[in-house]
Order: sequence, then C-alpha cells, then structure tokens
Amino acid sequence: MANSFINPTDLPLVPPMDLNQHLPGIDRISPFPMQLRTQRNVGLFYARREADPVTGRQTLIRPHTGIDLLAPKGTKVFAAAGGKVIDVNPGNILMLHDFGFKFMTFYNHVQNILVKVGDIVSPGHEICEVNDNPNWPTETHLHFELRYPFESSTFTRKNSLPINTTFVLYNWEVKSFENDNNNSNRNVYDNTVITSYEEVVRDRQLRFVKINVRANNRDLYLPLQTGLFEDQHLADTIRAAFMANKTVRIAWRESLYFSKIQTVHDKVGIIVEIKML
Ligand SMILES: [Zn+2]
Repeated sequence: MANSFINPTDLPLVPPMDLNQHLPGIDRISPFPMQLRTQRNVGLFYARREADPVTGRQTLIRPHTGIDLLAPKGTKVFAAAGGKVIDVNPGNILMLHDFGFKFMTFYNHVQNILVKVGDIVSPGHEICEVNDNPNWPTETHLHFELRYPFESSTFTRKNSLPINTTFVLYNWEVKSFENDNNNSNRNVYDNTVITSYEEVVRDRQLRFVKINVRANNRDLYLPLQTGLFEDQHLADTIRAAFMANKTVRIAWRESLYFSKIQTVHDKVGIIVEIKML
C-alpha cells in the first residue's frame, strides 16, 4: 500500500470470534455464524455530521465507530491480526498492527483478559472473552473496531480514526466462499423470473439490493460495497433482468455474517451469480 489511504477490505484480518470452533472440517478461525447486532438501530459502523439546530455548528451525531458482534458471555475473542498490545483497561484491549502501514484493532465489552501491554501476539491468538453489559442484557456482544492512527509517534485510540468495519469482515466471508471448492453452500434457482426488486438502505449506510423470484417467497440480497465493480456489475445485471422480465439463473449462498440484518432472525441469502437465459 503505497499511498496513505487504507482500503479496509485489504486489511489482513482474521475474524475476532469463532462460534463454530468445535465443528470439524472448519478452520479454527471462522466467523460462522457471526451475527451483527442490527436491532434497535445500533450495531453497525456509523457516523455522520449534522448542523446543530441551535448553534448551526456541524457536530458529530451518534457515532458508532465499530461493529457489534453478538455472542454469549464467555465466547473467546481472538486477535484479528498479528501485532502488539498497546493498551489494556478493564473491559477493553487496543492493539497496534504494522504491515508497512499501521492500523489498530479495539475489542470492547470483554472479560478475562489474557494479554498485557507490550505483548506481541499472532493472528488468532486468544486474548479475552466476551462480557455481558448491563445496557444490553439480551444482546451480549463484542464491540470491535478498526482504527487508523493519524499520529505517528503516540499510538492511542484518541489519536486514531475509525475505519468502516462492516465490510472488512464481510469481505473475509466472501473470500472464504471463493475458496470453498465443493460449493457446499451454493444454491441455484434456475429458469426463474425476478418478481420484485428493491434497493434497501439500512441504517449505518449499509446498502442492499433485495429481490424475490417466481415461485419462491425467499428474499435474496446483494450487499453493495461502495465502488466495488463486481458488486455494481451484478446489481446492474439484476436490475436489467428484472426490468426486461428476463428468465434467469441465480446462484446464491447463505450469509452467516449478515444473519441478523433483517428484523426477522432469518439467514440472509446472498446473490453470487446471475445469468440471463
Ligand atoms: Zn458497539
């Protein structure tokens, strides 16, 4: 990375939790089923500026600088990348990672911390456990942040800016499915027609294309990462097929990362391929 901009999806990360660690045949560090907390309007990365109605000054409104990953109390938390522990407080850990460029990871609402300041840990190293939180008794979660240090000598959370975490972990999921050679998670609706088409903008700037196909009442989604050519191309094809009422073949898989993106607790079907017939 030659320039100073970080593309979050390029960060070499492993998911900070593994809820399937007892299942055979799955890499130890797997996010599945990793659930985003999206209920009650909180949980995804979010920040925006708005003019204060009284003073007219631009102020930061309700920023949520990380993502909330639902997990029971006691769930193990792992270092998302190799690096150095630079701050430990009751309930949270801050790590610094140097890959030629520097970034930080921050783990909040945690207990039983196993590392101390100065420790060098490898990716996937167990560092703590998820703790409960009196504010969210039924939604115990890890608050996970990625941060970019703007100060080159003093590395603190304050001297850093949050990076959008949502798609970093989604990108990890996409890559892991790309390497899934037996296509065990792949489903196909063949010879069908898209009967409904909708662009969904959830809170926290998360965008989806949502469709339904003939003779199936299951909604399928395509998360849109801003500026990602492949996603945009797929979205354009879906829209064109719907508008022209074309017969299509759609391949999709179940996302276990976006599994709580809807108000119902269904898993989300992610569109991976569409072909006009
Ligand atoms: Zn949070």
